[in-house]
This record gives sequence, structure tokens and C-alpha cells, in this order.
Amino acid sequence: MTVKKEQIYEGKAKKVYATDDPYLYIVSYKDDATAFNGEKKGQIAGKGVINNTMTNIIFALLEKDGVPTHFVEQLDERDTVVKAVTILPLEVIIRNVAAGSFSKRYGVEEGTALLRPTLEFSYKNDALGDPLINDDHALALGLITEEQLADVKKYTHKVNEFLKAFFLEKGLKLVDFKIEFGVDNKTGKVILADEISPDTCRLWDVETNEKMDKDRFRRDLGNVEETYQEVFARIKQ
Ligand code: UDP
Repeated sequence: MTVKKEQIYEGKAKKVYATDDPYLYIVSYKDDATAFNGEKKGQIAGKGVINNTMTNIIFALLEKDGVPTHFVEQLDERDTVVKAVTILPLEVIIRNVAAGSFSKRYGVEEGTALLRPTLEFSYKNDALGDPLINDDHALALGLITEEQLADVKKYTHKVNEFLKAFFLEKGLKLVDFKIEFGVDNKTGKVILADEISPDTCRLWDVETNEKMDKDRFRRDLGNVEETYQEVFARIKQ
């Protein structure tokens, strides 16, 4: 049985603990919610339980689909054993439909379908406000190698194709999402890490176009907890 040792990191939504095995960590999901680079803070009751379980369900399916992930074993409602990785300092975003910062930056109305899945990177750096960054920038700064970049792109498009179909079956349109990759401390390979949840995906109800994700918190749309519960109920089916 894998047990928590010392805490090695506390992020906005999760804590990470060492274990007896140097190649395994335990992540513990919190109910804390932040937006706008930490300017807006709050809690979404039950979110940690939902995001933990939902991520694990999806990661297990992605593994079967040929995308390597950090998932090892869920311990309880909030805690999961994962492979120890060194997170690559890039947020990887895919957009299928214009929304959020993309709509603002390019003056495109939210909800406009994009002609192709659009991959985007942000440099994970809170002090700089996670700026948009391109392949050349990331390579020139040594944030990622060419080989790692090729893996990241290949896996991200695979994740998008899988998730689009997965969510559509649950009556949800996948507008966009953010994922993070890490380098497995044991094997040196690039694997999917972090989470896939309503915190990190934009999901719109296919019938009503209602926002079923963290935008309810970011934009004060109400029914935040209820929406997370509804998404979770659909995912579990
Ligand atoms: N996203 C995220 N964490 C971030 C920034 C974005 O999970 O720190 C997700 C967000 O939920 C959305 C997608 O990435 O699904 C694209 O977000 P966008 O760049 O439009 O940023 P936002 O409008 O949320 O500032």
C-alpha cells in the first residue's frame, strides 16, 4: 500500500506528496478554485472528489487508446498514486471552438467553430502571467526538446480526438481544454500528467449550449457546484 510521506508541492488545486517509492507520488485534490492567474479565489464544494475521479476514469481510457499517462491507482475520493514526473513548463491547449482568451485576442465571437483543431502553448510562469509561446520560443529557451515536442503534439491531438467523442456521448461539446505533460522520472519518457476535468476543459451542453465548466465560477454564472455534479453524473454513466 502506497502511503503519503512529506508534501513536496502545493498548487492551486492539488497537493503532491512523496511516497516510499521515489518514482511514485500521491496527488491530493482540493476544493480550492482560482481564476485569472490567482486574482479570483474561491472554493467549489466537492470539486476535488469530482476532478480526481473524473481524471482517473479518462486517463485509464486514454492509456487503452495509446496515450501514456501518470495514472497508477486511485486510493480514495481525493487521493491518487501517480508516476513521479518533472512537469514540462508548457500548458498545452487545443481549441475546437473559439472561446475565452482566443476570442478576445483575435476578435472572434465565442462559439465560432474553428476550421481545424488549434494547438497553442502557454509558458507556465505565474510571474509573467503564463504568456502565449510558440514552438521556436520554447525550443530556443530550452523548455522542451524537439523529440519531446513531437510527442506532446502527437499525444495532444490524440487526446482531443478521444475527448471530443467521449464528451459528445455524454451530451457535451468539447470547446477547448488544457493539458500538461511531464517527463517520467523513471523512464525519461513524456507522459500525460495533471488533470482533465471541468476546471481544465470548456464543455457546453450540446442541446442548450449552456456552459458546464469552470467558466461558471470565472464569470459568476451561478450553479457552480451543481454543474460539476451534473458533468460528473454524465461521465460516470
Ligand atoms: N485553462 C486552464 N488553466 C489555465 C488557463 C486555461 O485549465 O491556467 C483552460 C481553460 O479552462 C480552457 C482552455 O484552457 O478550457 C483555454 O483557456 P483560455 O486560453 O481561453 O483562457 P481563459 O479564457 O480561461 O483565461
